[in-house]
Amino acid sequence: MSVLTIEGVWKNFHGHSVLRGIDLEVESHEVVSLIGASGSGKSTLLRCVNLLETVDDGAIYLDGEEITDPRVNIDQVRRRLGIVFQSFNLFPHMTVLDNITLAPRQVHGVARAQAEEQAHGLLARFGLAEKAKAYPDQLSGGQQQRVAIIRALATQPRLMLLDEVTSALDPELVLEVLGIIRELKESGMTMILTTHEMGFCRDISDLVCFLDGGVLVEKGPPEQIFTSPEQPRTQEFLRSVL
Ligand code: ADP
Ligand code: MG
Repeated sequence: MSVLTIEGVWKNFHGHSVLRGIDLEVESHEVVSLIGASGSGKSTLLRCVNLLETVDDGAIYLDGEEITDPRVNIDQVRRRLGIVFQSFNLFPHMTVLDNITLAPRQVHGVARAQAEEQAHGLLARFGLAEKAKAYPDQLSGGQQQRVAIIRALATQPRLMLLDEVTSALDPELVLEVLGIIRELKESGMTMILTTHEMGFCRDISDLVCFLDGGVLVEKGPPEQIFTSPEQPRTQEFLRSVL
């Protein structure tokens, strides 16, 4: 069974359709990238998966359960998802350790000692062991974004949603964040990400989806999308960014 199934999803804002019948399957351990111009609907699609937006038509299933069913427990669904945005959104008044342990302790009921042990393990794994007691404003942008990813990981999500997580970073800090995503893939994490880093996208993705005007125009393995896209709109987009 797929981790995520998106079936015929439509989303309208003020009578304008920004997602137009999106179909997508995400299998376990797969990395799926969404590419497309600004405004093509990438973030809205991730927000629909995270139930930050309601869909106007179609359905989304997480591990076979329809999460777009109005009777679904939204908190219970979100607990199975890790989401990281472009802006780091760390709690500024909390240490790195407290940022990471907050959800495991308060949402998942993990004991403090256990949550902290796990957080220290994640910080060590991603090269931030010495930053546990630091506050967000004492970290570089790249370090803050790595902490944001670790915080999302700390609840052991079934699926990670990463929305342009390197877009707010200075170029020299992008690589350290891409490195953590690469390591997540190697550890088998299932992910959907949006990115403007086409080289990275090509390298890490199992499936690349090109969106244009809310339509999923074309999807396929990265070698196919980047070397021989079939659709004129995909060809034009890739010509403009590569
Ligand atoms: P992308 O992430 O690909 O840049 P978005 O999903 O953010 O695209 O936006 C898709 C379209 O939906 C854009 O035209 C955007 O202006 C519109 N949109 C997104 N969120 C809202 C909202 N809350 N209200 C109205 N329009 C929105
Ligand atoms: Mg976006």
